[in-house]
Amino acid sequence: MNSFPFIVQLIIFLFGAIIGSFLNVVIYRYNTGRTLGGRSICMSCGKTLRWFELIPVISWVVQAGKCVRCRSIIPFQYPLVEFVTGLLFLGIVRMYIGLLPNIPLFLWFVVPSIFLWCVLAVIAVYDIRHKIIPDLFVYLFIVISALLLFITPDGFFMPDMWDFLAGFIIPLPFALLWYATGGRVIGFGDIKLMMGIGFFLGLGMGIAAVMLAFWIGAIIGVFLLLAHGKDVTMKTQIPFGPFLILGIAIAYFCQLSFLDIASWFTFFT
Ligand SMILES: [Zn+2]
Repeated sequence: MNSFPFIVQLIIFLFGAIIGSFLNVVIYRYNTGRTLGGRSICMSCGKTLRWFELIPVISWVVQAGKCVRCRSIIPFQYPLVEFVTGLLFLGIVRMYIGLLPNIPLFLWFVVPSIFLWCVLAVIAVYDIRHKIIPDLFVYLFIVISALLLFITPDGFFMPDMWDFLAGFIIPLPFALLWYATGGRVIGFGDIKLMMGIGFFLGLGMGIAAVMLAFWIGAIIGVFLLLAHGKDVTMKTQIPFGPFLILGIAIAYFCQLSFLDIASWFTFFT
């Protein structure tokens, strides 16, 4: 099997979007003392949302991004996280579709991947909102990625040495930079995230993810400088976590290694 019927893909996307709407709740309530239980309410007027206000993406579009009662604006973050989570679910399922005749093996790869990508989505949005990478989620990413190196469908297994060392090699230069500059150039949360990248992607794809993050970050940074002029200076803090996670996404979904990127440049020489 190499593809699902459209209707099955749509159901996977919608299921992902529903999980995305839960991730929005996690992002808003983490570290606020509020639990994850209880009905969803409007952040402005406190109105309990009814079922038709809780349909991922669609409710936001139908309501034109406003609360039905108080007309206050519902942040674009809500439908965006729902939509992207839907795409992540679809992308992950399609990635492992070749395993599908063997359903346990398919689930073995899909379920942890989906969980890790939900964790990364929370980290990215939380870092944009609060300019900090939440410890709980980055530790989940590190520990589960590391465990997945040792646990295979056949049981406990010693991983390839380089896949394991990648978790230490990739953050090392940035940890030294953090130490030398007293944390002014890069945040320690970004270094923790890089450790998880090493365990999750291995050395080749992990280096690709970090390189892509720096390039995309530099391009966006220059763009912000040009677009906002005075308001943005070289000292304006732009969270780096979302760029790292974008880099992970490109490396992971395109299966792009450092060697693939190096080969782009031999094209010019
Ligand atoms: Zn309201």
